[in-house]
Amino acid sequence: MEFNKCSRCGSFYVSQGNVCPKCQSKDTLEFSTFKTYIKENGFGENIEEISGATGISVKNINRFLGYEGFENFADKLGNINTNKILKSNKIDL
Ligand SMILES: [Zn+2]
Repeated sequence: MEFNKCSRCGSFYVSQGNVCPKCQSKDTLEFSTFKTYIKENGFGENIEEISGATGISVKNINRFLGYEGFENFADKLGNINTNKILKSNKIDL
């Protein structure tokens, strides 16, 4: 059996997903808040700015940037240089 360690709370869990079942709904909600913010405001200068505006921790934003489908989402927005922010923040996926 393969265990995953939840990157939000540190619990071990066996189900699929980026976080444990307990954190899933909060994570989904924050991811959608994050995407809405990006859609309306762009990436701005740095992740700290997004974190301050959305209340999502920098650590979680870094995770969201690596989520499946996020790159496509960012591409569709056009004028956003995802690589710029990915390079400016050392992301440990
Ligand atoms: Zn968790």
